[in-house]
Amino acid sequence: MLMRTHTETEILDAVIVGGGAAGLSAALVLGRARRTVAVIDSGKPRNAPAAHVHGFLSRDGMAPGELLTVGRSESQTYGVEFKQDDVVDVSWRGIEPGFVVELSGGTTLETRTLLVATGLRDSLPEIPGIQELWGQSVLHCPYCHAYEISDEPIGVLGGEAREMSLHQAFLLRQWSSDVMFFPHHISLTPDERARLAARGVTVVVGQVSGLICERGELKAVELDNGQLVPRSALFVAPRFIPNDTHLTRLGCKTGPTGFVAVDPSGATSVPGVWGAGNVVDPRAQVIGAAAAGSTAAIAINGYLVEQDVESALRSTEPEGGFSAAVEQRVCEMNGGSARHGF
Ligand SMILES: Cc1cc2nc3c(=O)[nH]c(=O)nc-3n(C[C@H](O)[C@H](O)[C@H](O)COP(=O)(O)OP(=O)(O)OC[C@H]3O[C@@H](n4cnc5c(N)ncnc54)[C@H](O)[C@@H]3O)c2cc1C
Repeated sequence: MLMRTHTETEILDAVIVGGGAAGLSAALVLGRARRTVAVIDSGKPRNAPAAHVHGFLSRDGMAPGELLTVGRSESQTYGVEFKQDDVVDVSWRGIEPGFVVELSGGTTLETRTLLVATGLRDSLPEIPGIQELWGQSVLHCPYCHAYEISDEPIGVLGGEAREMSLHQAFLLRQWSSDVMFFPHHISLTPDERARLAARGVTVVVGQVSGLICERGELKAVELDNGQLVPRSALFVAPRFIPNDTHLTRLGCKTGPTGFVAVDPSGATSVPGVWGAGNVVDPRAQVIGAAAAGSTAAIAINGYLVEQDVESALRSTEPEGGFSAAVEQRVCEMNGGSARHGF
């Protein structure tokens, strides 16, 4: 068991906060790199309200929970440890790159590197019925769920994320010829109206006051004048709120989008700290989050190797000359018993 209390000395190679697609994919790669890894997950993946995951090569249509169960068991084969818990605090260990991770249950872990893969929260418009139908008939991603409602009457709600709402309306005509746009609180420009009309999208005047549903399915959108507009699905543009408290508290810089900035490997501005998946990239779908987790894991392993080399050099090179240990390494590199193959 790798889970240690703060008083014990073992320092993990990596702690992964968040066991969704991004975190599990990283865990698999780091486990296979023979790193000591713990994944702490509070068990609330973003797509939990949906019945199926779509668009993931070889797993299209799988239940979201099943995908994660398979992912966890794959990593466990390689010795990765899992704990269902909330990470409540992460702090710098204070001696060298390395972190103390505190769980809500009171356990603390020490780790050389940290991967935060905590996803994001979808803040939905406050309209009665939206929350209840979220992930079923209230949706946000056409690529994830529109195929399943092909040719049905679809609505799109104008929301805070104006650009995204309009984009959804244009996109959804791809799947149905019956698409209605409810501007709700946003006012459309003449150009936007013309473009929607050109795309065959009907604009519905009036504010939306609620959703009418039966047996968990949307039946109609209700307007504040009492009119019911029959629809079987409503697309909304949520506000994306990253679960990035642990990153920002550690001092990771944010980028122009308001999300924590990462380089192509997922490295943040703080050495030893990576971010992957929706916590740093709201556009990442499941397959993209998994890819980002894998990329970050490879970078983390490279970083740990570098640290190991540096620390070996420090411990073997006394001031003023080569130590016996360094001479031994040179000997190994020249055909002796070098351990590593590359
Ligand atoms: C309704 C809906 C349906 C979707 N359908 C699809 C689809 O069909 N196909 C597709 O590709 N994409 C789909 N998506 C997008 C998909 O949900 C994301 O791409 C994916 O979840 C991103 O993975 P992630 O690992 O970054 O985050 P998540 O899957 O959200 O995982 C983050 C994990 O971190 C944990 N966590 C958060 N904070 C802490 C903490 N402090 N301590 C410990 N653990 C923590 C959470 O509990 C969670 O398990 C859908 C999204 C929604 C909202």
